[in-house]
Amino acid sequence: MEIGEGQTAKLVSSCTYPAEEGLVVRTHSKRVEQARKMVVEVLLATCPRSRTIQDLAASMGVQRTRFKVKNEDCILCGLCVRMCAEQMQGKAIGFVNRGELRKITTPFDIRSEECRLCGACMYICPVCQLRCQGPEAPGVVCGSCLNVSPVCLEKYEDALCYLDPCCQCLKEEVKK
Ligand code: SF4
Ligand code: SF4
Repeated sequence: MEIGEGQTAKLVSSCTYPAEEGLVVRTHSKRVEQARKMVVEVLLATCPRSRTIQDLAASMGVQRTRFKVKNEDCILCGLCVRMCAEQMQGKAIGFVNRGELRKITTPFDIRSEECRLCGACMYICPVCQLRCQGPEAPGVVCGSCLNVSPVCLEKYEDALCYLDPCCQCLKEEVKK
């Protein structure tokens, strides 16, 4: 968002800037929208296959990114950390390191005893885009994901992985 007037107007992040009496806030000024589009372009370059980011970009009219595409698997949004701590009362994961080495992991990079394998961190992740909604609706998903090793097993250890198409479906496609 943009705060202030004239020469003193500046862009700040709305989630961290403290509100105060009389503060003038613009959330859709030209400057704000340009900055937002640039951020979305950066996200697109980081994780171009994320449907969530693609949808966000499309909603802003952004069709391509000017930045170098990296195909990372995390945009460091921190949603998984908040989901674990605030919703699941888990505190099993968090940020470590700084700069390019910054990442999400468990304490000491080993399996956390705090983790209850609820899968909520994967559910909320905008980049873990291949998840499905689990084997609930008959005929929609097969439930095989409960019996096979998820493709992201290394990363998420033995947490249930809600993939769509699931890894079993992918295996069948490879056989064809
Ligand atoms: S699966 Fe583990 S790390 Fe993820 S939200 Fe649940 S408790 Fe936290
Ligand atoms: S929610 Fe996904 S993209 Fe965001 S920090 Fe966690 S793993 Fe990375």
